[in-house]
Amino acid sequence: MEIYPRFDAIVLSDDTAALFAIKHKELFKDTPMFMTSINDEGIINEAKKLDIECIVEENSPISQNIEIIGNIYSKPTNKLNLILVTGPDDIYPNEIEEFYSLQDKYKNFNFKNVTLLFKDEKEIQSKLKGFNKNKDILFFLMPTSFSNSKKYISSSTNFSSMTQIIKAIKDSTDAPIFTTSRSGIEIGMIGGHTVDLYKQGEITGNIINKFFNGEKNIPKEVKGEATNSLVFNYKQMIKYGISRGSISDDVELVSKPDSILSKYKNIIILSVIIFIITIIFTIIHYIFTIKTNKELKEAKKIAEDANRLKDSFIANISHELRTPVNVISSTAQLMKKKVDNNDTINIEKINSNINMIEQNSYRLTRLINNIIDVTKSDSGEKSLILQNVEIIGLIENAVLSVVPFAEAKDINIIFDTEYEELIMAVDIDKIDRIILNLLSNAIKFSNNGSDVLVNLMKDKDNLIIEITDFGVGISEENIEFIFEKFTQIDNGLTRLNEGSGIGLSIVKSFVKMHKGNINVKSKLGKGTTFKIDMPINIIENGKIMYNIPEMNSTYIEFSDIYF
Ligand code: ADP
Repeated sequence: MEIYPRFDAIVLSDDTAALFAIKHKELFKDTPMFMTSINDEGIINEAKKLDIECIVEENSPISQNIEIIGNIYSKPTNKLNLILVTGPDDIYPNEIEEFYSLQDKYKNFNFKNVTLLFKDEKEIQSKLKGFNKNKDILFFLMPTSFSNSKKYISSSTNFSSMTQIIKAIKDSTDAPIFTTSRSGIEIGMIGGHTVDLYKQGEITGNIINKFFNGEKNIPKEVKGEATNSLVFNYKQMIKYGISRGSISDDVELVSKPDSILSKYKNIIILSVIIFIITIIFTIIHYIFTIKTNKELKEAKKIAEDANRLKDSFIANISHELRTPVNVISSTAQLMKKKVDNNDTINIEKINSNINMIEQNSYRLTRLINNIIDVTKSDSGEKSLILQNVEIIGLIENAVLSVVPFAEAKDINIIFDTEYEELIMAVDIDKIDRIILNLLSNAIKFSNNGSDVLVNLMKDKDNLIIEITDFGVGISEENIEFIFEKFTQIDNGLTRLNEGSGIGLSIVKSFVKMHKGNINVKSKLGKGTTFKIDMPINIIENGKIMYNIPEMNSTYIEFSDIYF
């Protein structure tokens, strides 16, 4: 016979295997042996004589189950029959004997037993059909070892599995059935201490593990009770009115109804998702509404500001229009009256009246020009008539044309340039307007007797024009508005010197058209410097214009200054 020395350990996992090992112990010499699922008391006793590392036993928990049944039916209204259902009595004499031995302890039951051959459904039905739930309680003892069940099933049965047998038992009666079979409980028997093969395997596995880890305190024997599990079918408990409190806490409940949470899990998850999405949308909507409201408020404020500016512009403009027209028409009427009355004509007086008409015509022309320019720039018209020009001369001429106006206020204009000559492509008319506008402001807002400086410089590829006065200056809070259309800052001199608040906005737009920049530095009471820088561009092969003649625009641009 062959010996198996190469195995580290041998696990014998039922009565038959254990019996084989007991009979042929020489085969397993020196190999550690473990036994599990051993049910037969005789085999257990024989095995203990051998050098077995551990025996994990299995038992049919009869007394444990009768105790549970006793607890559940502790106060029966009339005496109930407690019927043990087993396989053939020659296989289960010990179990049947153990069952009857308990009847003295549980006197409120009539102890009876039924043995089944597991032949077919008919046999089971005929033996169980007389029992009913009003007077009987069944306790089905699952055939314990595989060999036992196999013996009966294979010899004379129509059933092909234990599950079919269990189902046939369950379907044969409406009486409550307690059992040691877990699968019986799962298909609708009530419950009980069950033979748990998984638990036996788990315990055996743990013990083998400990053995190979060299642990010392390994038990020689694990009693059958420790390998059982208490299992109940929750739905059947409800059906038969068995309270949870009559069963110990370590029970495992099968067919448990889903908790509300798990039953409505999907609906709850969906609701939570919908809720979160709703919240997100609400927040987005809220933020959007706030944003829209904010934007609306800002737009409203801009519109209101523009409206206020427009109102003040209209008020200004009507004043600006009406004043020169009044002066012109009243002067003309005066002169007509004199002619009609044949009054002596004083040449000096006539000259002064003609000057007055001329000055006020210029003033009207200036205003109309400015309005046209602003309208053009508002409607996006940004056409430049570019020509290659000697710009130093162009600016110097513009400055010179202003000198008589400055002198009338005793203001000294100092013109200074780094370069004698500089050619660049510009719109002559617009450069003239830029310089005259800035100079008229500088003179307008200067005190009599002060200086105005005009400086021309070059910085890299830019022409720099600086116009500085030492007049009233502009306060910090107003400086950011002066380039806005129709803005006039009340600095005490504004009303004295008329204007429409358009000049600087036109200057800025003309500078921008030349791709330049304008900025201002000012101190209240000290004076103001406007600085323009414009890129020096040249039209390739273009004609160069020198000595541009003085334009009569000077009179027009200075028409709002009264000396
Ligand atoms: P206006 O045609 O009325 O002069 P501008 O657009 O040229 O309008 O100027 C706007 C305002 O800027 C003026 O009303 C004045 O208050 C201020 N301002 C412009 N230039 C100067 C300066 N050199 N010194 C002080 N204030 C100035």
